[in-house]
Amino acid sequence: MKVPEIFGSLVFSDTVMRERLPKETYVALKRTIERNETLDLSVANIVANAMKDWAIEKNATHYTHWFQPMTGITAEKHDSFISPIGDGKIIMEFSGRELIKGEPDASSFPSGGLRSTFEARGYTAWDPTSYAFIKDGTLCIPTVFCSYGGHILDKKTPLLRSMQVINTQALRILKIFRTKAKRVIPTVGAEQEYFLIDKDLYNKRKDLIYCGRTLFGARPPKGQELGDHYFGAIKTRVAAYMKELDETLWKYGILAKTKHNESAPAQHELAPIFDNCNIATDHNQLTMEIMKKVAEKHNLVCLLHEKPFAGVNGSGKHNNWSLATDTGINLLEPGISPKDNAQFLLFISAVIRAVDIYQDILRVSAASAGNDHRLGGTEAPPAIISMFLGDELTAIFEALASGNSYKGNSIADMEIGVRCLPKLPKDNTDRNRTSPFAFTGNKFEFRMLGSNASIACTNTILNTIIAESLDYFATELENCSDVNATLSALIKDTYIKHKRIVFNGNNYCNEWIEEAGRRGLSNLKSVATALPTYASEKSVSLFNKYGVYSKEEVLARMEILQINYAKTINIEAHTALEMVRKQISPAVSLYCKELAKCVYYKKEIGVNFDAEKKVLERLSDNNVALLAKSDELEKLLNKASHFTDVSKSAMFFSDEICKTMNEMRAIADNMESYTARNYWPLPTYGDLMFCI
Ligand code: ADP
Ligand code: MG
Repeated sequence: MKVPEIFGSLVFSDTVMRERLPKETYVALKRTIERNETLDLSVANIVANAMKDWAIEKNATHYTHWFQPMTGITAEKHDSFISPIGDGKIIMEFSGRELIKGEPDASSFPSGGLRSTFEARGYTAWDPTSYAFIKDGTLCIPTVFCSYGGHILDKKTPLLRSMQVINTQALRILKIFRTKAKRVIPTVGAEQEYFLIDKDLYNKRKDLIYCGRTLFGARPPKGQELGDHYFGAIKTRVAAYMKELDETLWKYGILAKTKHNESAPAQHELAPIFDNCNIATDHNQLTMEIMKKVAEKHNLVCLLHEKPFAGVNGSGKHNNWSLATDTGINLLEPGISPKDNAQFLLFISAVIRAVDIYQDILRVSAASAGNDHRLGGTEAPPAIISMFLGDELTAIFEALASGNSYKGNSIADMEIGVRCLPKLPKDNTDRNRTSPFAFTGNKFEFRMLGSNASIACTNTILNTIIAESLDYFATELENCSDVNATLSALIKDTYIKHKRIVFNGNNYCNEWIEEAGRRGLSNLKSVATALPTYASEKSVSLFNKYGVYSKEEVLARMEILQINYAKTINIEAHTALEMVRKQISPAVSLYCKELAKCVYYKKEIGVNFDAEKKVLERLSDNNVALLAKSDELEKLLNKASHFTDVSKSAMFFSDEICKTMNEMRAIADNMESYTARNYWPLPTYGDLMFCI
């Protein structure tokens, strides 16, 4: 297979458009995209027709508006191209109107009260900045999704808005530095972790089927302690999967680049080459979907849950973020001229300021039921947001702040805009892998996100909070008499004011938790405690000011997240109950019966029966305790079902239900370790993680 030939073969890309559209249509479409204008219907008709012809040549029969509702996964409703022409005959048709706008009956998507069910209609509208593609015989058109009343109901619209906001503010800064650029675009590379397990084993576990993670499972003799899986040789079956995955992703124009084994047994990672933030988000959604689909073909299941197995690492998603100009400059890349360096330091200052002021809102973007198991578990950063700048960059800021000379390099004093910066290391070894937000030489890596999450929310927040800092800087610089002096003062003052957010040490140790407390950094340990900050006045006024979300839209989003959290834990708890009552307890009873028989017969013939008796007693007692816990859990679930306040309900699930589920699990896991293998009703952790 020739990779360059298959790459993007399922995408109605710029090259395809140039080939297939009349020149004036192509130019008109490009202009619309670049200027963010609405598309003329006559242009849309020509584009739609060309798209349809291309799709039919590729054996497509349907089209769909592909959108990203607030469920966090993508949605699609397929319509065929057929159109009757009488005589029982049809032709294949697709109009500009159908391309631009769809009206799905969207009453079942979460809206957080933004759309009452009687106004079931929602609108989808084409996002021409992301290419259409063919998936399983359907032409997929990336779209935004909003309600009849104009409220946004998806994850793409706010992301596009935030890109617009940061573009505007960054251009103001570039103008001050006389840096040539017409557009500034956030760039994102999302590294994706996942687990692969055997499908037959998966099918035997209700917890995996309903919850995507195991709710029970005694520790296997071996976990990840030897560190022999990380970057280890890839098993043949996994390698075959990865090969097909890469080839499929390439056909969709997804720049799949790196693949390797991760820390936990059965855990792996895929990293693409970065792209513009909107496309990176669409591609990450598509990547997650394709990962699952390709796994099926290999009789495997791809688990994207943040914590499929207790006792070994869970999966995250690293969101690498930077800003690029349309002229190809990375604004977080230290330059070589003094002007570039000052500009670089100002952009870094904007990030420092933004992450400090809006740390709690950034934390919200990583809040999910699954991620609660990872954060702070010495496998992922704690729930405290801090930033790693690295020794060199920190020393530079320290020197600027104190007015002392920077001694780390031969350059004696560091007057901004006059002298060159010393070379900053861009080496991976310098990277602090415990930091939630690390500067890695020419980009920031946000490492808190869960593997299952859409990256849209995180990037909407990042773009908006950093735009707010750029706005603040630009206003100061535009209204001052001495740009150089103001610039120096801004960088210095920002660092002094916000340096508490900078931490280059080990984020996994307890001393940091204490130190962070002294610094006054927020530590929102769970989803339930983090989510309410989304609706804080600071948050609402930020999003409102830049037109990213209205107040109602932020509140709706918070409510959806809270409801989703409570529902997720509710499903987990009911699954755990079912497994205990229908599988674990009955299986242990059967084994106890066998042991009792053994004790009985041995006693009869006068043989020592102590071993069987001890195990029998232990398991019998545990079974009583287990069922008692299940009753306790059921009572709590009943209580939970009567909550009307969404916030309180989320809190109750977090504090009471999760705690009781954990206690029930501890009893069951202990029983597993005393029950004979052929009686235990579930594939074990060892089977799941090592047998593929
Ligand atoms: P690691 O696994 O050590 O964190 P990788 O090299 O696997 O690092 O991944 C780094 C990710 O960062 C890749 O997806 C890469 O494309 C992305 N990246 C590199 N440069 C930029 C940039 N300027 N903007 C956004 N992402 C970037
Ligand atoms: Mg990484």
